[in-house]
Amino acid sequence: MSSAQERAKELAREMKRAIMEAKTAEARAKRLGEEVLLALAEAKKELEAASTIVEYPTGRYECKQCGHGSIFSQPYRELPACDNCGSHEYVGAEPTITKITPPPPRKYAVGMYECTGCRTRVVVAEETDELSPCDVCGAHKLRPV
Ligand SMILES: [Zn+2]
Ligand SMILES: [Zn+2]
Repeated sequence: MSSAQERAKELAREMKRAIMEAKTAEARAKRLGEEVLLALAEAKKELEAASTIVEYPTGRYECKQCGHGSIFSQPYRELPACDNCGSHEYVGAEPTITKITPPPPRKYAVGMYECTGCRTRVVVAEETDELSPCDVCGAHKLRPV
C-alpha cells in the first residue's frame, strides 16, 4: 500500500472519530440546553416567590383545633405549631401580605438565543439591556430562539 493510501485511511479514521465526537457533544449540548431552560424556569419561580412576603403579626392567637391560646411576641412567616396539640391552624390568623414590585423588565429576557451569524446557541441567564457578542464568532447578532 502506498503511503498516500495509508494517510488517506488514517485521515478517514480520524474523520470518523471527529464525527462521532461531534455527535456526542451535540447530544450533550442539547441535554444541557434543556436543563438550563428548566433551571431558568425554576429561578423565575423563586423570584416570584421572593416578591411576596407573608407575615403574621405579633399578638394572641387561638388554636383552631383545641382552642388553646398562644401569644406570639415576634412576627412569623409561618405560624409555629400549637403548644397543646401541634396544629398549625389558628382562628383569625390573618397575615399581612406585602408585595414587592419587581424591577421593570429589561430589553432582553432570560432564555435561549441563537447567533444569526453562525447558528450557535447561547443561554442568557440574566435579563439584560445589552446582549454579549456570540461566544463563537463574536458577532452581535443574537436573537431569541
Ligand atoms: Zn391546639
Ligand atoms: Zn456566532
